[in-house]
Amino acid sequence: MTITYTYGTNLYVNTTNRCDMNCEFCLRSSGDGVGSADSLWLEREPTREEILADIRSRDPGQFRQLVFCGYGEPTYRLDDILWVCRQLKDGGWPIPIRMDTNGHGDLINGRATVPLMAGLIDILSISLNDADAGTYARRCRPLFGEESYQAMLDFTRQAVRVIPTVIMTVVDNMPAGEIERCRAICEGLGATFRVRHYTTEW
Ligand code: SF4
Repeated sequence: MTITYTYGTNLYVNTTNRCDMNCEFCLRSSGDGVGSADSLWLEREPTREEILADIRSRDPGQFRQLVFCGYGEPTYRLDDILWVCRQLKDGGWPIPIRMDTNGHGDLINGRATVPLMAGLIDILSISLNDADAGTYARRCRPLFGEESYQAMLDFTRQAVRVIPTVIMTVVDNMPAGEIERCRAICEGLGATFRVRHYTTEW
């Protein structure tokens, strides 16, 4: 069972296979693994203690960032992830901690989640994906319906106040005009815009 894996210069943490979306461009539909991981499908979700032990078995000096991102939406494991981050920070963990999320943490957990991340998550990368709620619902098929889009924007608006670096991403498999509309939305929220290249090769 793969909990931590490497890709590029970062160390990644795979905590869950649960997700409230079914994006048409999701990596999960094009293969089982990413980077050093043959498979990111979990036979069961690792406990918080197992996650911490796996991270601590790695040398952080070899990596640029520690990233909570696997084959699922990490805010399903928010309490456990934040517990792990607290142990790492208290132990002097030397590299930035990032979470890649679809921004639905509040919907998934039924409470405000951004304030809980303050001081524990250094970088949030939030999937913006589309410039309007209708397209988002069609391409990402969110469990919570069209309100998911506004929830993601609200999550980002809160995040830029308390998280040092907030990035919003889109995948470059959409028309250039749509990408520019997304850029304007992102910049209006005060986040940093990033266009990711669409690929099924990882
Ligand atoms: S939110 Fe992420 S993990 Fe979930 S379906 Fe979309 S791309 Fe895949």
